[in-house]
Amino acid sequence: MSFDLILRSGRVIDPSQKLDAVTDVGFAGGKVAAIGNALKATPGANVRDVSGYIVTPGLIDLHTHVYWGGTSLGIDAEQFCRTSGVTTAVDTGSAGPGNFAGFRKHVIERSQVRILAYLHVSHAGIFGFSDRVMVGESEELRLMDPISAVEVAEQNRDLIVGIKVRVGRNSSGPAGVVPLEIALEVAEQLGMPVMAHIDHPPPSYEEVVALLRPGDVLTHAFRPFPNSPTTAQGTVKRIVLEARERGVLFDIGHGKGSFAFKTARAMLANGFYPDTISSDVHALCINGPAFDQVTTLSKFLCMGMPLADVVGASTFNAAMALRRPELGSLKTGSVGDATVISIREGRFDYVDVIGEHLTGDRKIASEGVVIGGHWWHPMREQSSDLKQIAG
Ligand SMILES: [Zn+2]
Repeated sequence: MSFDLILRSGRVIDPSQKLDAVTDVGFAGGKVAAIGNALKATPGANVRDVSGYIVTPGLIDLHTHVYWGGTSLGIDAEQFCRTSGVTTAVDTGSAGPGNFAGFRKHVIERSQVRILAYLHVSHAGIFGFSDRVMVGESEELRLMDPISAVEVAEQNRDLIVGIKVRVGRNSSGPAGVVPLEIALEVAEQLGMPVMAHIDHPPPSYEEVVALLRPGDVLTHAFRPFPNSPTTAQGTVKRIVLEARERGVLFDIGHGKGSFAFKTARAMLANGFYPDTISSDVHALCINGPAFDQVTTLSKFLCMGMPLADVVGASTFNAAMALRRPELGSLKTGSVGDATVISIREGRFDYVDVIGEHLTGDRKIASEGVVIGGHWWHPMREQSSDLKQIAG
């Protein structure tokens, strides 16, 4: 068997196959070709010594905004992924049916990083989001574009994984929960999941979650009060437990206003882990409080969520939410994406969206990225730690 790339002697954590062991991962033809000890380096193979590091399936950030230049909230996916260990950035609703073509042609097709998208049901996606202009794209029902949304999603099934909608005081205002009902109708027509955003009520957390179907994703699930999933007594709201029971998925979507340590502590204390952890990185939160995916993951690690579960929430679980089982796994035949991380120990300051600080004892750092079976992350190219040892 010949390899393009071998990651040698890392601690491989792959929740999709319940694996946590020091071993090698070999890539060929853009896919994971083999996993096992002492894989034989074939001539021309790029071999990297990652001993002392952790190798995970390529991290998936299920909630990002990467329509750079096309929307004011968009950030540059490649820049972001280099530092945050992400190999698949899932854009959630930056584009709607009226401007998805530009997203595809000008951003996604040119990107070395994998970009998938939830299509917004509102005509031009999240078009009015900056530090000076804030207009909810779900507020104006004349912008709801279900027929075009179905058409555009049908034409782009290779990239579009579901339908996004934002409801809440800031995003849908007087339209309330109606845009979600329209999004659900579109998703039903397509056989795709919905990702629903919530912010301040109305509508209430309860109203929104009650409408979601198995496989739909609620993002901003660990919001601060108001519209948090917990009761005043610190228990999990009954309707939230019922929703999980029927298969609704709970995503973090940290962002600028959607994640609180207080909520997360209460949820974890009740044994309610998020299904997926995502950063909701965009122009107004990339310099804090969200920063990036590894920082968001680190917060959960420091709050006591086990490492394998944290990794699973950004790999296997995210791939399941996307219905793309070929991602988020290092099983042979999977897409050849991997992330090399380290866990630094010390005292690290973390902050949530309401300004609460948490001092954590660990920090997950991105050390390298493999995309499509090739080493992609040039940031530490000069570093002696992860140097190329053959090829
Ligand atoms: Zn968002």
